[in-house]
Amino acid sequence: MNYIQQAMEIARGTNCVGDTTFFQAIEEVLTSIKPFIKKNPEYIEHNIIERIISPNREIRFKIEWLDDKNRIHVNNGYRIQFNNALGPYKGGVRFHPSVNPDILKFLAFEQIFKNAITGLHIGGAKGGADFDPKGKSDQEIMKFCQAFMTAFYNSIGEDIDILGGDIGVGEREVGYLFGQYKMLTNSYDSIITSKPIALGGSEGRISATGYGLVYFTQTLLEDMGETLKGKICTISGSGNVAIHAIEKLYDIGAIPVTCSDSKGTIHDPNGIDLALLKQIKLEQRASLELYAEEKKTAAYVKREDYQGGSYVWDIPCFAAFPCATQNELGEESAKKLIDNDVKIIAEGANMPTTTQGIELFMKHQILFAPAKAANAGGVAVSVLEMSQNSAFNYWSPEEIDQKLQEIMSKIYKDIKKICDEYNLDMDLAAGANILGFKRVAKAMVAQGV
Ligand code: NDP
Repeated sequence: MNYIQQAMEIARGTNCVGDTTFFQAIEEVLTSIKPFIKKNPEYIEHNIIERIISPNREIRFKIEWLDDKNRIHVNNGYRIQFNNALGPYKGGVRFHPSVNPDILKFLAFEQIFKNAITGLHIGGAKGGADFDPKGKSDQEIMKFCQAFMTAFYNSIGEDIDILGGDIGVGEREVGYLFGQYKMLTNSYDSIITSKPIALGGSEGRISATGYGLVYFTQTLLEDMGETLKGKICTISGSGNVAIHAIEKLYDIGAIPVTCSDSKGTIHDPNGIDLALLKQIKLEQRASLELYAEEKKTAAYVKREDYQGGSYVWDIPCFAAFPCATQNELGEESAKKLIDNDVKIIAEGANMPTTTQGIELFMKHQILFAPAKAANAGGVAVSVLEMSQNSAFNYWSPEEIDQKLQEIMSKIYKDIKKICDEYNLDMDLAAGANILGFKRVAKAMVAQGV
C-alpha cells in the first residue's frame, strides 16, 4: 500500500469514522496531490499527510439562550481550528440546522487550502451551530449570537482565530457577535470579518465572494479565448454569494436566468430581476415563491415537487454557478448540464459538486473552476479588512475591487502554472489542491514537529 492510500485508510479508520463529507474532502485532496508527493518524497519523511488531515483542535460548546417568550433553548456550537501553519486560524461561522462536526471538519479542511491559495498568511478553521435563524425575531437572533460568543470567546483572538460569515451568518449576525466579544473583553480587536461598515467592515467584503467568482471565471475563459458576455448563466442559491454573483454577471454583460433557495427554483428567461430578488431575500427574508407571484415571466418549481436534485441544472446554459451548499450538484444534474452543452462550471459554494459530478465534467472536458480557487475572493477581502482594522486604515470600494480583481487573476495564474508543471492540462481542481498543499506543507516542515 502506498503512502497516500495508507493515509486515506487512517482517515477512514480514525479521523473520519461516520464523517462522510469530511472523508469526501480528504479523498479529493489526497487523490490529486499524488504527482506532487511523487516528485517531492521529502514530505513523506515528515509525515505531512497524516498530520494535515487531523484537526489541531475541535471545540464543542453548549449554547443556552432565551426566546421572546423567555423559553430556554439549547443548541450545539462548534469551532474546528484545523491548521495554523501559515497564520492564525481563519474561517466562517455557519448557523443552519444541518451543522454538525462532519460538515464543519470538511469546511475547515477545505478552508486550509483555499486560504493558502490566496497567498495570504492565514490558517484554516470553521465553526457554527445547529441553530435555525429562519422565523426568529431580530431580538432572538441577537440573543443567540450573544450566547454563542459568550460560550467560546476565550478560544479566539485577532492573532489566534478570526471568524467570518457563512450560511445563516451575514452582517447582522456578525455585528452582534462582534458586539458581544467587545463587551466581554473590553477590546475592539478584529476577531471577525464581514463586519458592517459602521464597525470597520471592508467596503467590498459583502460582495467579494460573488464578484470574485465571476472575476475568476472570466479570467479563465479569457485565457481560453472565450467570454461570459452575452451568455446564459444559471445560478443556484439566493444568498450572499448567489446575489453578488448575479450582480457581477449583469455588470459584465452576461444573462443570469435562475436562482434558488431551500424551498424551490426560479427560472426567469429574461434574466433575474435583481432588485426584486434582493428585496425578497435580503429585506423580507422570505421564500422565492414571492418572486414568481410578482414576476409573471418567471417559472417557480418547488423543491418538493421536483425529483432528482435541483431544477436549476435542467436549464440549458453556457456557464453554471452552484452557489448554495455542499453536494448540491450530483451525477444526474451533471449529465443534464453536459447534454445541454454547458461550457463551464464555476463553484461559488464550498464543494457543491459531488465526486461523481466532477468526474463526469472532467471526462467530457468541461471547464471546471473549483471552489477553493473560485470562491476565495471572500476570504481574501476578509484579510484586507483585518489589515485595514489593524492599521486604522480605510480603502474605498474602488480600491478593494481593484485588489480583488488582481488577487483572483493571480490565483488563476498560480494554479495554471502548477497545472503546466504537472501536465494536468486544465484540471484546475488538482492544480488548486497541489498549490494549497504545497504552501501549507512547506510551512509545516519549516516549523518542525
Ligand atoms: P447564505 O446563507 O447567504 O445563502 C445560502 C443560500 O443557499 C440560500 O439561498 C439558502 O436558501 C440556500 N441553501 C442553504 N442550504 C441549503 C440546502 N441545504 N439546500 C438548498 N438550498 C440551501 O449563504 P452564503 O451565500 O454566504 O453561502 C453559500 C455557499 O457559499 C456556502 O457553501 C458557503 O460555505 C459558501 N461560501 C460563502 C462565502 C461568503 O463569503 N459568504 C465565502 C466562501 C464560500 P434559504 O434562503 O431558503 O435559506
